[in-house]
Amino acid sequence: MNSIEIDRLSGCCFGVAKAISKAEEELRRGNTLYCLGDIVHNNIEVERLEKMGLITVNHEQFKELKNVRVLLRAHGEPPVTYEIARRNNIELIDASCPVVLRLQKRIKEKYTHAAGNDGAQIVIFGKKGHAEVNGLLGQTDGSAIVIESKEEIGKLNFTKDISLFSQTTKSLEGFREVGELIGSRMKNGARFEFHDTICRHVSNRIPNIREFAEKHDLIFFIAGEKSSNGKVLFAECRKKNPASYLIHHPGEIDPSLLKEGLRIGICGATSTPMWQMESVAENIFYLLHH
Ligand code: SF4
Repeated sequence: MNSIEIDRLSGCCFGVAKAISKAEEELRRGNTLYCLGDIVHNNIEVERLEKMGLITVNHEQFKELKNVRVLLRAHGEPPVTYEIARRNNIELIDASCPVVLRLQKRIKEKYTHAAGNDGAQIVIFGKKGHAEVNGLLGQTDGSAIVIESKEEIGKLNFTKDISLFSQTTKSLEGFREVGELIGSRMKNGARFEFHDTICRHVSNRIPNIREFAEKHDLIFFIAGEKSSNGKVLFAECRKKNPASYLIHHPGEIDPSLLKEGLRIGICGATSTPMWQMESVAENIFYLLHH
């Protein structure tokens, strides 16, 4: 006898879930709706919404739009996006996550405040070119320094004040390590501020997923190919349970893995909708009984 359990703590975080339901609500009204960038790093979910009428555009295409409605996804946008919308009479459906908006505000305040502080640096620990990071950089007119890892801290000036922020989805451990390293290198009385801006909706997933992986004999982890959070969480699963398999589609299950008497667990990333995990469970059930 096998058991199949879906991790109820996996699935879309509230920011992404809210953006998807806003899109669905607008599309049900039958109005044309554009979305600036993929609404979620999950191809199947993007395709589902596109079938409902959502049109995904990139930033170049966005500049050419006029008199339409555009949804801003949870990652948030820099001020220039709002300016273009004003100029082109674009109605924005702003689904930026409130956690990201609060972080943008904090960075903007720090930037405004630091205006007279010669050489002060605003540093963002995040992925260069990531949509959320672009939105954060925009709060500083592009002047903040983005570092992706502790190896990059050499480019900072430790004799001048540093305020360190993080992209919301970075690993808490990595961020703390970067913070400690910078703090230990400050010189000549320069001040260092460490702003812990990691989203707990993501960082809490790591201990949860480790526990879930340990409790099962076989794990199917479903996430989109572009989901960086999916890669991190899957790696954690695998560390705890080597019998963990990453799949990008609910139908991608290797039947030879489904031996008798296994406790099977299904989990996913913060961009994996619950319906996809349910669909994996249904497929496993079908394979076990046919
Ligand atoms: S991970 Fe956190 S900050 Fe990012 S969209 Fe989800 S809830 Fe918002």
